[in-house]
Amino acid sequence: MSQYGQVQVKDGRYKFRGDFHRLEQHMPIRDADADWKLVGVTKPRDMTYVHTYGAEAEFFASLSQGKLLATKCENPDCEANGSIFQPFRIFCPDCLGKNTVIDMTDLAKKTAKVHTFMVCMRSGAFNMLDKPIRFINIEFNGVCTILFSYLLMGEPQIGMRVVPVFKRANPTYTILDLSWVPAGTAADALPEGFYF
Ligand SMILES: [Zn+2]
Repeated sequence: MSQYGQVQVKDGRYKFRGDFHRLEQHMPIRDADADWKLVGVTKPRDMTYVHTYGAEAEFFASLSQGKLLATKCENPDCEANGSIFQPFRIFCPDCLGKNTVIDMTDLAKKTAKVHTFMVCMRSGAFNMLDKPIRFINIEFNGVCTILFSYLLMGEPQIGMRVVPVFKRANPTYTILDLSWVPAGTAADALPEGFYF
């Protein structure tokens, strides 16, 4: 019996179990206007992609606990010393030193604002968000980068104050576990699985 591939780390090594490539029955493509003549086949197949997070793993783990982590350059010899990076950057782009991990959940709750936005009526393959998707770019006080995310409820406006919400129930352990709602949204109005 075929089982989707699963991975675990044990004794410092990746352990693979199950099927990572699955091939299904081919189906004929026929021409309805030419006596159902065979013109080709479809080839359904799927693949389990193994995506390792490396030093970003703690960022994704903390979303499921309602925390937004960022990083900060604390190298005193760096021109950009003190810069806070959100999205989470493992290394400082100026001095290439390893950044320090900081918790910026409170800063996000108090200062997040929509820098700009776009509303997408259509999406690419494997999209998991409800359409239309309200993509927002978010700025924070004292943070030198802008975060790309999505607004879970309401209509975006430039300058609008937003607060983070986290998918703490059945998290996906991806960036989709982090979303935003207008400041002042009531806790009981949040969609299922999301919490402040
Ligand atoms: Zn630096």
